[in-house]
Amino acid sequence: MDSLMDKVDRAKPITDICQQLEVAVRCGQKMKNHTALGVGGEIDAIAYPETTEAAAMLVSELEKNNIPWSALGRGSRILAKDKAINRIAISLKLLEEVLLFKDIENREDKLVQVHGGYQLSKLAIATVDRGFCRLENFASHLGTVGSAIHRNEQQGLFMSALEGFTYVCDGKIKKIENSKLFEKTDLKYPCLILGASLDVLKIKSAYGQEKYSSTVARLLKKRRDDLLGTWPVFEEKIKGHSVAKLIADAGLKGFSCGSAMIATHNANFIVNKGNATSTEMLDLIEQVKDKVKKHSGIELKLALEVWE
Ligand SMILES: Cc1cc2nc3c(=O)[nH]c(=O)nc-3n(C[C@H](O)[C@H](O)[C@H](O)COP(=O)(O)OP(=O)(O)OC[C@H]3O[C@@H](n4cnc5c(N)ncnc54)[C@H](O)[C@@H]3O)c2cc1C
Repeated sequence: MDSLMDKVDRAKPITDICQQLEVAVRCGQKMKNHTALGVGGEIDAIAYPETTEAAAMLVSELEKNNIPWSALGRGSRILAKDKAINRIAISLKLLEEVLLFKDIENREDKLVQVHGGYQLSKLAIATVDRGFCRLENFASHLGTVGSAIHRNEQQGLFMSALEGFTYVCDGKIKKIENSKLFEKTDLKYPCLILGASLDVLKIKSAYGQEKYSSTVARLLKKRRDDLLGTWPVFEEKIKGHSVAKLIADAGLKGFSCGSAMIATHNANFIVNKGNATSTEMLDLIEQVKDKVKKHSGIELKLALEVWE
């Protein structure tokens, strides 16, 4: 257990850096209030830069002072342990929320520029409202643009729309013009994705606006904002198998450890029934892995990131 003096000692250099850069910072935030799973102890601080330049300078200063940091989006892929978390999280949610639509010469598509903390669901709805179709499937997605790029391997649909992005490297803002160059960047981990350009494609006349709007409406209806929980808990496909099906076939829908439960609507979704602890969540995950291994011989891979 952290003493008050320990907390003050750790917070001081962070608040000094943030003050010097005029970046808003909140110390001692409980991660359970910043994650979709609703578990997690106090993190040293969460910083909220309002400009991309301030975000880059913040990363540079933290690295110079050997202060561990991580990017924080909507916290829907993070399982934070119920103990002191010694790092600073950088949230981009205060960056100016402007969507910039640019025409591409001689093409039917449009480029949208968006910042890294922008919510995918808001982006999907804003683009569909303007008659573009490519991102409609993200209408029910809780995550942010930055995190979608961060885990590029999982987001085929999103990555196919990505024309470029900006990120912080060595305290400077760098730009990648073509997402195919992703592999060749000097992107380090932890990394901070500041913004992206996406090609959102015009709706083809054969379909029309109504069809797309109804897809978005259906996805939004499916979204469960009232539910504490997240998915995918495990990587969605292993050796061609649907992981949700493997878990369901092992009879684990509704299976629980304390207040942590495998959802009944999707077996790769984990639910916090109220006051679950991170230990219960991790226990549940281990038991599901064990039982699926015994049932099918297949080893599941955790898709959530554990913060401790
Ligand atoms: C209701 C619901 C629906 C969901 N639907 C889907 C779905 O359809 N498909 C799917 O794949 N997932 C889905 N998810 C899971 C989740 O939303 C995604 O994995 C999402 O990409 C996580 O985004 P986030 O902003 O919450 O990231 P966080 O959980 O905050 O962070 C996840 C990782 O991304 C990093 N990160 C965050 N922001 C940045 C940044 N700006 N720069 C660099 N790294 C960054 C973090 O450091 C961390 O490593 C869903 C979750 C919920 C709760």
